[in-house]
Amino acid sequence: MGILSDRSRFARTVMAEESKLAADLTRKGKKIIRLNTGDPTRYFKTPRYIIDAYISALKKNMTGYSRSADTLRLKEAVSKRYKRMYSMDVDDDSVIVTNGVSEALFYINSSLINRGDSAVIFKPYYPQYLAYLMMHSGNAIFSIYNEKDDWSIDIDRLERKLKGLPRNKLPKYMLMTTPNNPTGTVLSRQILREIVGISNEYDIIPISDEIYDEILFKKTKFTSLGEVAKGIPHIILNGASKNFNATGFRIGFIIIPEHDRKSMQIKDGLSNYVITRLSVNTPAQYAVTEALNNVSQHKKELLMMLKEIESRIELTFEILSENRYIDVIKPHAAFYLFPKIHINELRFKNGTEFMTELLKKKGVWVREGYGFGMKDYFRVVSLATEEILTDALNRINEFCKENTKRGS
Ligand code: PLP
Repeated sequence: MGILSDRSRFARTVMAEESKLAADLTRKGKKIIRLNTGDPTRYFKTPRYIIDAYISALKKNMTGYSRSADTLRLKEAVSKRYKRMYSMDVDDDSVIVTNGVSEALFYINSSLINRGDSAVIFKPYYPQYLAYLMMHSGNAIFSIYNEKDDWSIDIDRLERKLKGLPRNKLPKYMLMTTPNNPTGTVLSRQILREIVGISNEYDIIPISDEIYDEILFKKTKFTSLGEVAKGIPHIILNGASKNFNATGFRIGFIIIPEHDRKSMQIKDGLSNYVITRLSVNTPAQYAVTEALNNVSQHKKELLMMLKEIESRIELTFEILSENRYIDVIKPHAAFYLFPKIHINELRFKNGTEFMTELLKKKGVWVREGYGFGMKDYFRVVSLATEEILTDALNRINEFCKENTKRGS
């Protein structure tokens, strides 16, 4: 009998393997260009007014477990944001503050999933969705975002899947990401309406991870699940990591806007979980309250960051589009592109080998698609400067040309 629990193996992701290889290469003196992590703080500064609010919290000795009055201020700021942006009525009790969306995902599974329960996860998925579900002994029912339909949800396929399940095997929740990591898709209002209809019909809780809801390009229209799910239990996830460029603050929100019996039970269940870990980072809560309330400053800072990100995405798309050994779809939001590799035309047996060879030979670190549930894809994070991106992307193109089966 091993010392580790069975569930520990689900905490080990593809990312850990990739990191080990990158660390080995770095130790051997290889210079690595990292296009692998979606952390905007590596290339953009967290806005000064947010940093100042954090410092001010420290100076006011806000260094203890957070007091409920301070958390309440943050909840009020979140409620106001949803009113302002999506005309949603969210009362303060409908907001639960977490240590990032990561912790929110963990507690959602802790609250909802018994051994053998299932949940719908769409491929390609954000890797933690599956890891947390599995750690809670849940089963994934996979559905897909359809690449041929600009990575939107394939509703027919989803319905067919649900219709085929016995009533007692229906999933507890259905978890989607809009805007999406890794594809950069934004789900349309119509698709979200259909998802809500299906959730209602099959008695499944729809959950929407909307952590990139302000990182939108070219006037892309975004609809929050909350705008179309009025009257049915649903959950929205968001946080400070991306929109406020504050990944290390570790602030996330769970929003459960409705007051029906099920929604109230879930809120209660989650509230019990969050009490067990005592507190969320106190000065960060204070700073994020300021970030949410100072709307005009936020808009200014966000616009600057967005302009840059959008031009970097354009550049990445342009350079990768020159590569005839991959197919790439232009994203509408977030920081990512998720190209498909024409693996049959290259000398690699799969996407894993493609990614590891790219890292070893060209020193470019992208994440392989397998971690997102897709074979023969890779994810590029398009946050680095234009100079770094141009160099790295040209290396990817060169790498493909140098490794064709025909040897051309
Ligand atoms: N959800 C998605 C879709 C993400 O891409 C990420 C981070 O990359 C997270 C959640 C994690 O968010 P947090 O930093 O709030 O834990």
